[in-house]
Amino acid sequence: MLNEKVALITGSTSGIGLATAHVLAAQGINLVLHGLMSIDEGEELAAEFSAQYGIKAIFDDADLMKVESIERLIQHAIEQMGSVDILINNAGIQHTESAENFPLEKWNAILAINLSAAFHAIQYALPKMKHNNWGRIINVASVHGLVGSVNKSAYCAAKHGLVGLTKVLALECAEHGVTVNAICPGWVDTPLINNQISAIAEKQDISFDDAKYKLVTAKQPLPEMMAPEQIGEFILFLCSESARSITGSALPMDGAWTAQ
Ligand code: NAD
Repeated sequence: MLNEKVALITGSTSGIGLATAHVLAAQGINLVLHGLMSIDEGEELAAEFSAQYGIKAIFDDADLMKVESIERLIQHAIEQMGSVDILINNAGIQHTESAENFPLEKWNAILAINLSAAFHAIQYALPKMKHNNWGRIINVASVHGLVGSVNKSAYCAAKHGLVGLTKVLALECAEHGVTVNAICPGWVDTPLINNQISAIAEKQDISFDDAKYKLVTAKQPLPEMMAPEQIGEFILFLCSESARSITGSALPMDGAWTAQ
């Protein structure tokens, strides 16, 4: 059923987005890859996906800080691929600092990339999904869309916002064959969290691996990082016909973090 659908995954040059791209491509889903990478590198990545999985794949380097780039990203995707059936708002950044010392430009960037970009992408992609009476919108939020942590004011505000946006869009799309969900992962082993691990290693004079273990177990009862592919498999399920009644949900995949 998913064979030949088109998925646009923001931030698919790294981490969860890249792993999800592999999971979807293995099912024959065509891809719009996206992220901060040179056009040459991005086109090479897309060519590798096409060769490995026999799918159509293109790349776009739109900067999600700019609304007009997001509009162009969706327009180009629809022009070149025919539609965007599955929109995965995954790109995100992090910065940790107390609220009183939080740099304004970091606050603005986190809100723009982690929240507003998803809103804009949905706005531009939705008419075609509604027209086709089929669509899947999956917002990669975080456990921090459900609970707070110190030094993450911008990230938590953005991710809680993304969960709220998910609920409203699910209501607005319910009669149009389009499901809208948020995934709320705990710790996932990707470059996004390396700064936080390095800061612990430096402060406590311990190895990177020991610092990683400390970071994970501080809040997450399951004492291991998730692999990004696990998130990809979860996303694939949400795209399936079996998941057509799951909409408006903020779904934790968090090793019991929010069970406490
Ligand atoms: P990552 O750093 O590996 O990947 C981030 C991606 O976003 C990259 O492809 C990057 O190019 C893209 N990106 C960043 N800024 C951009 C911009 N201005 N314009 C366009 N693209 C931009 O991170 P990841 O861990 O794979 O994170 C993916 C998503 O998962 C994020 O939304 C993150 O908040 C969320 N998440 C991550 C974890 C974790 O523990 N890693 C946990 C919960 C949620």
